[in-house]
Amino acid sequence: MRLTYLSHACFELRNGQIILIDPYLSGNKLAPNYEGKPDLILVTHEHSDHADASGFNAMVIAPATCKFSKMLAMKVGDVKNFNGITIQMVGASHRQSKYATRYLITYGGKRFYHTGDTYLDGIKNYGNIDIMFVPIGGHYTMNINEAIKSLDVVKPRIATPMHYNTFSEIKANPKEFQAKAENKASRYNSWNPANLSMFETKIRHYELCSTRLIITLKFINA
Ligand SMILES: [Zn+2]
Repeated sequence: MRLTYLSHACFELRNGQIILIDPYLSGNKLAPNYEGKPDLILVTHEHSDHADASGFNAMVIAPATCKFSKMLAMKVGDVKNFNGITIQMVGASHRQSKYATRYLITYGGKRFYHTGDTYLDGIKNYGNIDIMFVPIGGHYTMNINEAIKSLDVVKPRIATPMHYNTFSEIKANPKEFQAKAENKASRYNSWNPANLSMFETKIRHYELCSTRLIITLKFINA
């Protein structure tokens, strides 16, 4: 399993098949040059900074408020299976959207939670999350302190910040999130950084510039 952060709320999961989540690649100055050919694209809501999927051939899973030529519409609560990938659509709290959702993805034996654009009141615990993608930029979503509170609810093994620094309204320092999250995680007795190596997912680190930095941390269930 390889996980790549492509800036904003966009991640690629690659494990034989390629899943692309919330693409925002054109018109995004922080996005790297992306040449992947996704097999499946997930879009959390209709806003252009999450739904830049028309340039791909892949099937797009999205709520019915989105329109793509090759699309499978899902509703909150639906669960679908695609060649061994299980996708569950759940609701998010993002009043700017007509129908805000997010996804629980089970793939390659791991459980991912892409929280979409959400405020803290929309955060729920779905149990056993390996990696949580959590917005930290504020304004349209949770800010850093709210994102830290959301870790108490979800208790993921690894949390990765997203949705920051793409626009002037969502400036946030991912290292501040990292420091606060690690401080919180260290208060759990069972937290042991050595366990990180047991996690098979290979995380690709973007150290090229701080805006493309991906930060991971161990955050194990209390
Ligand atoms: Zn957004």
